Amino acid sequence: MANPSILILAGDGIGPEVMTEVKKIITWFGAKRGLDFDVTEDLVGGAAYDVHGVPLSDATMAKAQEVDAVLLGAVGGPKYDVLDFSVKPERGLLRLRKEMDLYANLRPAQCFDAIADFSSLKRDVVAGLDIMIVRELTSGIYFGEPRGIITEGNERVGINTQRYTESEIARVARSAFELARRRGNKVCSMEKANVMESGILWREVVQKIHDTEYPDVELSHMYADAGGMQLCRWPKQFDVIVTDNLFGDLLSDVAAMLTGSLGMLPSASLGAPMANGRPKAMYEPVHGSAPDIAGQGKANPIACILSFAMALRYSFDQGDEAARLEAAIAKVLADGVRTADLMGPEGGTPVSTSEMGDKIIAALDASL
Ligand code: NAD
Repeated sequence: MANPSILILAGDGIGPEVMTEVKKIITWFGAKRGLDFDVTEDLVGGAAYDVHGVPLSDATMAKAQEVDAVLLGAVGGPKYDVLDFSVKPERGLLRLRKEMDLYANLRPAQCFDAIADFSSLKRDVVAGLDIMIVRELTSGIYFGEPRGIITEGNERVGINTQRYTESEIARVARSAFELARRRGNKVCSMEKANVMESGILWREVVQKIHDTEYPDVELSHMYADAGGMQLCRWPKQFDVIVTDNLFGDLLSDVAAMLTGSLGMLPSASLGAPMANGRPKAMYEPVHGSAPDIAGQGKANPIACILSFAMALRYSFDQGDEAARLEAAIAKVLADGVRTADLMGPEGGTPVSTSEMGDKIIAALDASL
């Protein structure tokens, strides 16, 4: 049987730097765990614009449709700020999401004990936290019609429309229930059914998918504003949260900050299952191309490495190996190894991007 395939799109700024560390880890899993991947690399964002005049070529798009998983670094940078909107680096990312129809955005909020003090919340509220926010990514108010700014009488009116079909709700609900079965078996669905019709439909459809297909998973419903409060009050009450595009945008950023640094946050965007049963998938760190530190060996590669751990778990059914990688990262952090973004007020000497990668590999070796 052919090896599972990965397309690496490292992108711009610190993207290639953090991706170099991911490539070392992929090689390690091949050499030490017999997990061989067919890895190809291509350009996205400003790097693609420089060569092809577009932030994602048709050929790269076609490759992304064929592989089992896309790993993306980051796109963008000041050099490209002057470009026309249609060829800005971010358009490459949006094209991937749209054409692969990646409707479920997974944003874990996981707090490693060793860096719990980086959170703005108290240590006991966040230490050991491990929750997953599933945000609907391709519909809702960011896409609904009518939209625009019109003139009514003598003033202007801004219009956006929240619109969800039953099937759009059902498919993201299934993603959340499937995930919950591999984790703590609990889903909390968040909307505003008290004031929005789309919220009433959301709640009904999620409940129906639960009752007919996933009765074994514990389901609760919460208004999204109360959900925001509960996330800050006692986030460990949650396992998987499923919510729409707008609320997910807000709630996943709130949850992200529970855990400290941007350099630690992975994400996955999943679509419908392909012929081989694997979902269409793209994995990427939450952070951008960080032009302020690019080229200096200062970037924290952990967000990108954790994104690969998500690929192991959700695309390649290697949950145990994903846990091995996460444990290696936890061990390195517990040993006090820190990139510059993780330096506390007590100071110390930060390690470089590649030293952090090497330490994680050493911890992986030690796990055998
Ligand atoms: P950013 O995430 O690139 O950086 C914000 C801050 O966090 C910076 O101070 C940066 O140094 C720091 N940071 C980010 N990642 C880090 C890491 N791995 N290790 C250590 N420090 C890290 O956001 P920004 O500055 O708003 O945007 C910079 C560029 O990235 C822009 O062109 C923006 O459009 C683009 N961007 C791309 C993506 C993406 O590719 N998904 C996401 C956000 C922003």
